[in-house]
Amino acid sequence: MVNKDKVEAAVKLLLEGMGEDVNREGLKETPARVARMYEELLSGMGASAKEHLSKTFEASDSQIVLERDITFYSICEHHLMPFFGKIHIAYIPDGQVVGISKLARTVEVYAARLQIQERLTAEIADAIMENLRPKGVMVLVSAEHMCMTMRGVKKPGSQTVTAASRGLFDEDESLKSLFWNMVK
Ligand code: ZN
Repeated sequence: MVNKDKVEAAVKLLLEGMGEDVNREGLKETPARVARMYEELLSGMGASAKEHLSKTFEASDSQIVLERDITFYSICEHHLMPFFGKIHIAYIPDGQVVGISKLARTVEVYAARLQIQERLTAEIADAIMENLRPKGVMVLVSAEHMCMTMRGVKKPGSQTVTAASRGLFDEDESLKSLFWNMVK
């Protein structure tokens, strides 16, 4: 969990390190403001996807369920800069489905932490496998990293794409290509 006092003290030190006058009007409230912001942005740290994925409904058929274009925002743990984009999640139910909003809630649990995109992708796939127990799941994440587009190589708009497949999606290439066609 975020320790707001420590974040506040650290931001003050950071500003001093940047050569700023922490007492000037515009910066006076900044350390406390940033501490409150991180508390919100990292709220996924104490959260579990289990509560969202355990409210299931029975479903008799096992057609692919695809939720596409779930918007997310996360923070890169290497630079503490945002990365954000879209997530597509597909799963093949094994008798149980979840409400559509629960997939977006699951994304939030794992995005609202210090992250790397590869781990975010895998954690979402694993949480769905573990809690919903479908026959298979596939997760595709497409994101812009501010640490790449605002500094360094400076390639605005460039997207990093990661994918994770579990269960049937892992075993059956035709299912995988069906997924790629559905999200294209
Ligand atoms: Zn980064």
